[in-house]
Amino acid sequence: MNRNLKIGIVGLGLIGGSIFKALCALRCNIYAVSNSNFTLQKAKQYCENVSKSLGILQDCDVIFVCTHINKTTEILDKLDEILSSNTVVADVCSLKRFVSLKKRNYKFIPTHPMAGTEFSGFDSSFEALFQGTKWVLTPFEGTKDSDIKRVTDIIKVLGADPIFTSPNEHDEAVALISHMPMLVSQAIFKTAQSNKLALRLASSGFRDMTRLALTNEEMAKDMIDLNSDNVQSSILKLYSSIGDLLNKDYPTQIREIIKERQSMYVDGKNGL
Ligand code: NAP
Repeated sequence: MNRNLKIGIVGLGLIGGSIFKALCALRCNIYAVSNSNFTLQKAKQYCENVSKSLGILQDCDVIFVCTHINKTTEILDKLDEILSSNTVVADVCSLKRFVSLKKRNYKFIPTHPMAGTEFSGFDSSFEALFQGTKWVLTPFEGTKDSDIKRVTDIIKVLGADPIFTSPNEHDEAVALISHMPMLVSQAIFKTAQSNKLALRLASSGFRDMTRLALTNEEMAKDMIDLNSDNVQSSILKLYSSIGDLLNKDYPTQIREIIKERQSMYVDGKNGL
């Protein structure tokens, strides 16, 4: 990666803060914008170039916009007023179709880091968040290889492996592995709440199954609202899998599932 690149980050929460902390540790040339004085004060302990104003990002070579889905379009529009076509901007939203609707004057590459926790904000961010993970890119047709490389070089320095796909394929896939499981996790918790003894007895299995129910309200709502078609079809597939499991040879099926699931995260495969 070219260490002279001027890299901007908007939104110093879990994702933006983690990019910020990792790149500050690597002594990169960082400019960051966030919303609250509290976050800005803490960020100043890592780097002087932090501000409330997007203006400090004017000459950046690459900018990561790391705000919530419902704020990202507004930030991308504001950046259109101050940036030239020399800057490459990447968002990090968990959905890709909605940001891909509009092309902008600057070069825009939609991305989604497949890393996160149930926590949010700068205090929860940490520099190793992306180590060994996947980072999806859904570039527009005609995006120059050199512009994609500017972003993937940074992604690789953060420890992630770039994966290319289309916005439609991305949103369909993440509904299956993230958005539908989050909804199911919330539903499992809600269902168990009807039985006080069940909640008293609940241990590690229940904790693991309901971790995604801790996804913050703003992010959860955006994921379900903006990917509702894929979430609904994922739920239909889930019903169908439950039907298959119960109505066909259950022992053989679970043997197969155990084998596949066991091999999935072995030796850092799938990054975890
Ligand atoms: P988060 O921890 O809540 O961080 C969002 C940050 O945005 C807040 O800390 C806030 O900073 C800042 N912000 C809000 N309004 C702003 C504005 N107008 N200008 C500049 N900064 C502003 O959320 P997150 O989990 O990092 O999620 C951010 C994005 O990453 C979302 O689009 C999400 O879809 C995506 N994503 C999340 C995960 C995950 O697991 N969490 C995984 C992959 C992708 P202040 O503290 O200064 O108010």
